[in-house]
Amino acid sequence: MPRKKPNPHHRAARLALAALIPLVLAIAGWQWLQNHPEHNPWAPLDLDDPPGWATRAKLARLKADVSECRAVLERSDVAFTALAPTGEGPCARPDRTRLGDYPLAPDTPPVTCPVAAALEIWRRDSVSPAARRIMGSELKRIEHLGAFSCRRMYGGSDGPWSEHATANAIDIAAFVLADGRRISVLKDWNGAGPEARFLRAVREGACGSFATVLSPDYNAAHADHFHLDQDDRWAGVCR
Ligand SMILES: [Zn+2]
Repeated sequence: MPRKKPNPHHRAARLALAALIPLVLAIAGWQWLQNHPEHNPWAPLDLDDPPGWATRAKLARLKADVSECRAVLERSDVAFTALAPTGEGPCARPDRTRLGDYPLAPDTPPVTCPVAAALEIWRRDSVSPAARRIMGSELKRIEHLGAFSCRRMYGGSDGPWSEHATANAIDIAAFVLADGRRISVLKDWNGAGPEARFLRAVREGACGSFATVLSPDYNAAHADHFHLDQDDRWAGVCR
């Protein structure tokens, strides 16, 4: 039997199909992103969305835009007060944002808005779920050692200024649960029980929203606290 001559109409149809498939995939991908704003780098950040691939990049962009950062808090129904700017030189603080309904103790210090937004994501997506899952209790308080301190890194007389100099950082020492248990970084980090698992889970969780996360694994200066900051000089330290 002689081979059938290719039908030019079939060839055109195959070409049209080959062009159509990527288009259909692109439309499906676009629709999927519309339904998953947490993975969509173009969707405005809403802290009510679950954490996704685009969350950290969107949080990082807020570091350069205080008003957009505060708009994100408003959009996400996060209570906060914008305090007047203060300080000067390396300790000038044009952005002082105080969370209004956050379980920090002994007080709720003003921090930069990007730190406030990251704290909120961390509590919602990491600390509260880990308290339930690992400790079987609700989170009641997060104890901190301070946010603002006009100093250079490690209190030196030279070298780079600390993120604490602008309250773009906060040091977290312990977590108190609704059943009264207190989990402290100093006492419980090296244990084998659920407290140590909880502390590791929330350390890892902090890396999803903060630029820098330093724990006792980093060095002895962090044996009693987690240092969390939104540094934009180098991002991605998680240890
Ligand atoms: Zn610190």
